[in-house]
Amino acid sequence: MKLLFERSRPGRGSDLLPPCDVPVTELPGELCRESAPHLPEISEVDLSRHYTELAKQTHGVNDGFYPLGSCTMKYNPRIDEEMAALPGFTNLHPLQSPDTVQGALQVLHTAEQALCEITGMHAMTFQPAAGAHGEYTGLLLIRKYHRSRGDTARTKILVPDSAHGTNPASATMAGFTVVHVPSNAHGGVDLDALREVAGPDTAGLMLTNPNTVGLFDPNILEITQIVHNAGGLCYYDGANLNAVMGHVRPGDMGFDCVHINLHKTFATPHGGGGPGSGPVGCKAFLADFLPAPRVVERDGVYAFETPAHTMGQVRSFYGNFLVVVKALTYILRLGKEGIPEASAGAVLNANYLMKKLADRYTMSFDTLCMHEFVMSLEPQSHAIGVTAMDIAKRLLDFGIHPPTMYFPLIVHEALMVEPTETESPETLDEAAEIFLKILDEAEQDPESLHAAPHHTAIGRPDEVAAARNPVLRYTEL
Ligand SMILES: *Cc1c(COP(=O)(O)O)cnc(C)c1O
Repeated sequence: MKLLFERSRPGRGSDLLPPCDVPVTELPGELCRESAPHLPEISEVDLSRHYTELAKQTHGVNDGFYPLGSCTMKYNPRIDEEMAALPGFTNLHPLQSPDTVQGALQVLHTAEQALCEITGMHAMTFQPAAGAHGEYTGLLLIRKYHRSRGDTARTKILVPDSAHGTNPASATMAGFTVVHVPSNAHGGVDLDALREVAGPDTAGLMLTNPNTVGLFDPNILEITQIVHNAGGLCYYDGANLNAVMGHVRPGDMGFDCVHINLHKTFATPHGGGGPGSGPVGCKAFLADFLPAPRVVERDGVYAFETPAHTMGQVRSFYGNFLVVVKALTYILRLGKEGIPEASAGAVLNANYLMKKLADRYTMSFDTLCMHEFVMSLEPQSHAIGVTAMDIAKRLLDFGIHPPTMYFPLIVHEALMVEPTETESPETLDEAAEIFLKILDEAEQDPESLHAAPHHTAIGRPDEVAAARNPVLRYTEL
C-alpha cells in the first residue's frame, strides 16, 4: 500500500485548527527552523482511508480471537477509554502544582492501594513504562537494599529456565549476573538445583507464577524460603497475574517486590508499542528505596514525597498516568467479586480449549493449566514436516491470531495459547474446530501449509530480513 508521503499533493490538507484565543507573538529568530518540515499534505478523506487500509493489513482484538500466550490480549471495556479521555485528565500538565491536581493524585493513590491489596504489597510506584522497565526498577530496589546493608557480595540473580526473556535481560541491565535454574519434570522449579545455586552471592530470584508454561508452582513457599534463607530477595514477575488475581497474592507467596503489567491484566490495550505501564510494588522494608516522587495522603490532602533513600527517577514525572486511570476504572468496575471472577474465567477458558485439543495436539505437560497452555508440534514436525510456524500462519486464514510461537524455549515446536476470560464458549468452540481442521489439512497436504497464510493482506514476510534490516524511515525515491 502507498505511504502518506506518496499520497501527498502540494496544497492539499485538512487542518481544522481552532481560532487563536491568545495574543500572537513573533517567535525569536534563533528558535525558528530554516526550512519547512517535510510533512505529507493530504485531504481528510484520504487520510481516513489510509489508516483504515493500514488497520486491515493486520489482526487486532477487534478482528477476532487473539490467543497470543504470555500477553493477555483481552478485550478491554470501552468505559476505561472513556474515563481516560475525560478532559479533566487529558488537559493536565505534569508541572501543575499539587493543589490544582488533587483528583489526579487521588487516582494514583487509590490505584496504589487497590493494586497493593491485590498483590499483597505495601507501597508502589507507577513510573515504569512497561513490564521490562518494572523488572529493571525492581532489581534496582534489590540492589539498593543489599548495598544499604553494606553487602556488596550479592551479584547474582537466579532465573528459572522457563522465564520470559526480559527477566535475564533486565537482570543484566541492572548489573547482575544471571544464574539459570532448571525446571523439574512437572514444569516447576527444580528445588535441589535451586538449593545448590542459592548462597551468599545471591541477590535475589526472579519468578513468574504461574510460569510461562501456564503452570502454578505448588512449591512456591519452599522456593521463596530457600532464597530468603540464603539472604536473597524474591522478585515476582506479575505479567501472568491475570490467572491468579483475587485468589492468591505474590506477597503471601513470599515475594518482596513485584511488577504488574497494567497493559496485560488491567485493561489497557497493548501491542504496537504502548503506552503501557509496569508499576512496581514492594514490601514496607523496601519502600524507602522506591523512585521519587510518590503520592502520599495526609488528612485528605494529597502531596508528593521523596522516599528517604530513593533510587531517583526511572522515568519522567509519574509514568503513563492515563493508563493508571484505565486500570483504576477496570478495578472499581469489577470490584472485589469481579476481579477473582475474571481470573477464574481465564483459567476455565484455557482448560476448556486445552481439553478440546488434547486428543490431537501434544500438550507439553499433562495436567490442568492456569490461564494458558503450551502444546508441542514436535511429533508433526518429525512425521510430516509441519511445524508450529505452519500451523500458526494457517490460523490467520481463519481470522485467528497466531498463538505465541517457539516460546518458552524449553518446549520444542511450541505453540502457547492464552484464550483470556473475555472469550465466549462459542468462540472457543469455533477456534477448537479450526485448530483441529488445520491438523487434518496438515496430514492430507502438508505442502499447502508451508505456504500459508493464503488469504491475508500480507503472506509470509521474510522475518530474518525484517529483523536484520528494518526499514523504519521513509526515504524519498
Ligand atoms: C510480557 C511479559 C514481560 C514483559 O513485559 P513488557 O510490558 O512487554 O515489557 C515480562 N514477563 C512476562 C512473563 C511477560 O509475559
